[in-house]
Amino acid sequence: MSVHDELEQIRSRGLYRTTRLIHGRQSQRVVLDGREVLMLCSNNYLGLADHPLLSRAAIAAIERFGTSSAASRLVSGTMELHELLEAEVSAFKQTAASLVFNSGYAANCGIISALAGRGDIIFSDRLNHASIVDGALLSGARLVRYPHNDHAALARLLEKRRGTGRCLIVTDGVFSMDGDIAPLRELVDLKNAHDALLMVDDAHGSGVLGPQGRGSAELLGVMGAIDIQMGTFGKALGSFGAYAAVSGELRELMINRARSFIFSTSLPPAVLAASLAALQLVRSEEGAALRERLHANASLFRGLLRDSGFSTGCGTTQIVPLMTGDTEVTMRFSELLLAEGIFAQGIRPPTVPAGACRLRCTLMATHTPEELAWAAERIATVGRLLGVI
Ligand SMILES: *Cc1c(COP(=O)(O)O)cnc(C)c1O
Repeated sequence: MSVHDELEQIRSRGLYRTTRLIHGRQSQRVVLDGREVLMLCSNNYLGLADHPLLSRAAIAAIERFGTSSAASRLVSGTMELHELLEAEVSAFKQTAASLVFNSGYAANCGIISALAGRGDIIFSDRLNHASIVDGALLSGARLVRYPHNDHAALARLLEKRRGTGRCLIVTDGVFSMDGDIAPLRELVDLKNAHDALLMVDDAHGSGVLGPQGRGSAELLGVMGAIDIQMGTFGKALGSFGAYAAVSGELRELMINRARSFIFSTSLPPAVLAASLAALQLVRSEEGAALRERLHANASLFRGLLRDSGFSTGCGTTQIVPLMTGDTEVTMRFSELLLAEGIFAQGIRPPTVPAGACRLRCTLMATHTPEELAWAAERIATVGRLLGVI
């Protein structure tokens, strides 16, 4: 098929994607196409993406260390900030060691293909993030996708397992499109019973969940029981990059086997310093106050939408999906909201299964209750117009 025909095919299926231009900062209000709108689709949950403490740390790091790490750490060396950040991540996640990766996508591809290969088996939740699926495919291990959050079904699949290869169970901590939380206690029991490794991708839980923001594992009381705690700096932490918090030996294995670590220039000083500042902020009183505001905003917003008759799934976190059904209605919904001054993304296949399209609303600590009440009212008006409620 020609490139032109392929693009036409994407368009005719209603799956054509473009990006939108934002002027200025990623705050809770942004200037989009010259007009100020309410941001309801950012993962900047705590508002740290434009926090002065992070900006100052990044500027100071550039002045002291320059703008680039200049090569992979295995080539031109680890910089002080890589070490400092890894020490902070290990303390945050209460693990013996950790390794920083260039992004969550790179981390998942690198970690999973380092841990599993031919002859091994990976059990992956059906709704796991695409980067986990890609990592599993890249690894060459057998990939078994289990029904979403269904630990009983996973137990049956584990019982049937044959062979002597390594076994990896991998799950999102907080599911990115549904906002629900993985049953980590049950998964820990299963991984112990079946001599498997458990990996949790807490891209949306880190900084947000648990009394100290350590993530879904802290919330569910299983901090010490997870073999690989993966997390990212680009969402609640307002920076960029990712990490695996692990044992010392797993860290060594990744340095030797994770190709996205080995064959890619490491993160630059400004990014490392911003991440370091973010971790310190998340653990401070200000961090706790931001989390409290975020959770209050999420329950306010979810409650208002449910009261209007929307189905918002079974999540309890800052990710609030509004189920809208088919692709066309969903994209129309998103367009009409933008006309009203609300920026919320419609989510379509292949990000979610066909027929499970949704408006994915994400809350921020920096939204005011008034802004959210206003938005919920507009959303209900559009929902009635389109027959969603
Ligand atoms: C965003 C996300 C990633 C990818 O992280 P990036 O740093 O954006 O590459 C991985 N896993 C999950 C669950 C995510 O939501």
